[in-house]
Amino acid sequence: MAEENHPGQVKEITAVSNPVIKSIRALNLKKNRDADQLFIAEGLKLITDAVQIGWNIKTLIYAKNIRATPHLQEVAAIARARGASILEVSEKVLGAITRRDNPQMVVAVVKQRWEPLRDIKVQGDDVWVALDRVRDPGNLGTIIRTVDAVGAKGVILIGETTDPFSIEAVRATMGSIFNIKTSRASLAEFKKFQSEWPGIVVATHLKGAVDYRSLNYADQPTLLLMGNEQQGLPDELAENCSNLALIPMDGKADSLNLAIATGIMLFEIRRDKLKVSGTDE
Ligand code: SAM
Repeated sequence: MAEENHPGQVKEITAVSNPVIKSIRALNLKKNRDADQLFIAEGLKLITDAVQIGWNIKTLIYAKNIRATPHLQEVAAIARARGASILEVSEKVLGAITRRDNPQMVVAVVKQRWEPLRDIKVQGDDVWVALDRVRDPGNLGTIIRTVDAVGAKGVILIGETTDPFSIEAVRATMGSIFNIKTSRASLAEFKKFQSEWPGIVVATHLKGAVDYRSLNYADQPTLLLMGNEQQGLPDELAENCSNLALIPMDGKADSLNLAIATGIMLFEIRRDKLKVSGTDE
């Protein structure tokens, strides 16, 4: 199939079987993302934000039919100046990379960023969310988006979790993956981190004794601990918290969805910081 080099190092690829495309498609597997420390992000708006924030774009890939867009050319120029390869491809190739029938017209291969646990410096009323063995990429992406929305600092993934850099999780973050810090820890590492936390550690639990609205989250750092979707929070994490909080329910549901429960908690914890602009109350 046709492959040609354009002036300005833009490479045109139309074959799904092209080795460069194959190596990008391989990033749909976690073992390859782990090995290369790369991931796939979709959409011009997201990728523009990533470039502006300073994430390292390895490859920028776009559909041939939108090449003339001035905004895209600007983003591509910045990415290229920082060392990214630029690929102009067919929609079929984009569909194969993203495994979608109606793919986004712009996709990027981005270097992963993990915040080492030891580098987390907490101050003021910082909020971090720790997720015990979170399994569902949609839940994780939604939580990352919500952490970003309320102005919390980041997430800590405890134990074996779903990958925040899978295409499904990144999609669900709607770009927030680029705005917050993502850290990870074994259970033992997290327990040490938790024991040294300089503020309040609030775990949510269906056996929680305290209404989450009765706690004082102001003027201190908050570490919010959320349990696994199926098993909830294990005792060894629950017993070392400042409080076990319950979100009271009234219907017949046994529990709330993890991402919903995290959202309810985060909006309460950050309540005083969240104002409609122009209002003092
Ligand atoms: N079967 C699990 C259990 O027994 O804990 C249900 C887990 S729930 C789907 C996932 C997590 O969301 C829980 O571990 C807890 O952190 C949080 N959660 C859900 N509903 C909650 C509620 N009503 N009050 C406090 N936390 C809740």
